[in-house]
Amino acid sequence: MAVAAVQPRLSPAATEVALAALKTLLGDRFTTAQAVREQHGRDESWNPPFPPDAVLFPHSTEEVAEIVNICAAHGLPIIPYGAGTSLEGHVSAMQGGVCLDLMQMDKVLKVNAEDLDVVCQPGVTRKALNEYLRDTGLFFPIDPGANASIGGMVSTRASGTNAVRYGTMRENVLALTVVMADGRIIRTSKRAKKSAAGYDLTRLFTGAEGTLGIITEVTLKLYGIPEAMSSAICSFATLEGAVNTVIQTIQAGIPVARIELLDDVQVEAINRYSKTDMPVQNLLMLEFHGSEAGVAEQAEMVQAIASDHGGNNFQWTTKAEERAKLWQARHDAAYAAKALRKGAEVWATDVCVPISRLAECILETKEDVVKTGLTAPLVGHVGDGNFHLAIVLDRNNPDEVATIEAFNERLVHRALRMEGTSTGEHGIGRGKMKYLTAEHGEAVSVMRAIKKALDPDNLLNPGKIFSL
Ligand SMILES: Cc1cc2nc3c(=O)[nH]c(=O)nc-3n(C[C@H](O)[C@H](O)[C@H](O)COP(=O)(O)OP(=O)(O)OC[C@H]3O[C@@H](n4cnc5c(N)ncnc54)[C@H](O)[C@@H]3O)c2cc1C
Repeated sequence: MAVAAVQPRLSPAATEVALAALKTLLGDRFTTAQAVREQHGRDESWNPPFPPDAVLFPHSTEEVAEIVNICAAHGLPIIPYGAGTSLEGHVSAMQGGVCLDLMQMDKVLKVNAEDLDVVCQPGVTRKALNEYLRDTGLFFPIDPGANASIGGMVSTRASGTNAVRYGTMRENVLALTVVMADGRIIRTSKRAKKSAAGYDLTRLFTGAEGTLGIITEVTLKLYGIPEAMSSAICSFATLEGAVNTVIQTIQAGIPVARIELLDDVQVEAINRYSKTDMPVQNLLMLEFHGSEAGVAEQAEMVQAIASDHGGNNFQWTTKAEERAKLWQARHDAAYAAKALRKGAEVWATDVCVPISRLAECILETKEDVVKTGLTAPLVGHVGDGNFHLAIVLDRNNPDEVATIEAFNERLVHRALRMEGTSTGEHGIGRGKMKYLTAEHGEAVSVMRAIKKALDPDNLLNPGKIFSL
């Protein structure tokens, strides 16, 4: 992959003038320290970093609006930043500008327990939110593998292992406060569970990757912690058997809370990294939520389906500690893949297809992995038709990078051919821009029109999702 050079929007002198105004506003919450800039120019992918000119740490919606007004007056790009765990080069400062690190806006503002919702600032992480909610009997289910910020999760339309039961961020954001590119502050909705009043701006900003506005407050749905929870694992000699178990489970309407697939390569990597001793075969990890009786019934039904497809070694547990260990191992999957080769990095990619095409898509992909000779553990939130590959690579080897790029292209086009999407949850960022037109066709011109209407000077996270 050719690495694009930074193309600063402003001259160094004009940048200096804009930065001086921002420094006056923020004092010691403004920095140009090189280490901080470098850290904020990269995400957790292998994509090369593009550091911003400065990093800012605002404390309030009003302060974000003041920053935006200064940047707009000078034409300086702004890149919103949460925990920096995105995977497609989302936060790189391709055109220079400032990084707006929202992690100091980290307060839970109000829990409306009787309405099952919470209002929080964007810098609250998913783990901190659940920690805060611990004594309320409520929880927030969306769990990307990393401890991402709520603002980042809204902006990438994130999901995770629980999405098969509770939906993604798309289904769980009720309202947003957003600072627009011209400094206006808007609220997209009230707290009602549903509304038919006007355009659905909440959904517009959910997944906009910081290109349409800066989210400074989020209202999220919450759920009661289920009376009973149990987790299970089940091994399969064939990938096909595991995937067909998933498809039949979903088609039978069994309300699993989690159903995750790990191929044998991924299981072995996790065993080594997380010191677990799961059988090195294709594996399903499951979780069931409900009443004691409901949970037992769901587990029995899935076990019966699994054994029809060659599933063996079905083990389940209700012990909180064992369940936590199991799911932590699952969340460590990407780091376990990375540890497979010393000094290597991981090219993480995800696609999603309708559930009826899942077996076909996974089996063709696995064949491609083997034929191409990649080390690429496969793991997935397969209940949604979504799976990932963590392709191990040496970024300094151009042949390897080119091979993986070609593989990724085949993967995306395979998913599109099966009426799926180029990304089920990671987003477009820089990495998947070139596939957007193949996926959406003329609809991309409507996306461009929206961007131009809301951010005519292309100040917000420029060079992401599509070029203008
Ligand atoms: C090990 C690992 C596992 C992962 N597993 C999953 C997974 O299971 N599911 C999944 O969906 N993702 C997963 N991810 C990807 C990542 O965690 C998600 O994309 C997450 O939502 C990013 O949140 P963040 O706070 O890190 O955002 P950042 O990386 O900081 O930013 C992401 C994007 O959001 C924008 N943004 C951030 N905050 C704001 C804001 N307040 N207003 C406007 N725009 C903003 C940024 O400009 C950027 O475009 C994983 C990543 C890793 C490293």
